Amino acid sequence: MKNATEPEVYGSLGIFEKSCLYCGARFRVLAIRSAESNRSRSFACPGCGKSYEMRAASEPEVHLLHGRTDGKDDRYQDTMF
Ligand SMILES: [Zn+2]
Repeated sequence: MKNATEPEVYGSLGIFEKSCLYCGARFRVLAIRSAESNRSRSFACPGCGKSYEMRAASEPEVHLLHGRTDGKDDRYQDTMF
């Protein structure tokens, strides 16, 4: 199968901001994205630990922009434990 366009140099840095659905914290997520090596990656909300998934070529980095807004300090109930 041939692609009409050349792939990106080695992937590009993707940055987006996200608000946690559970606690309202806002954070920025950075990850290398590359069509060839994108995989399902998980990252955790810095406020409550709720995990999210995205497709990226590297482990996502999370930077907290502002803390949670629900006024609590519990952790999201993660079924992985
Ligand atoms: Zn959260």
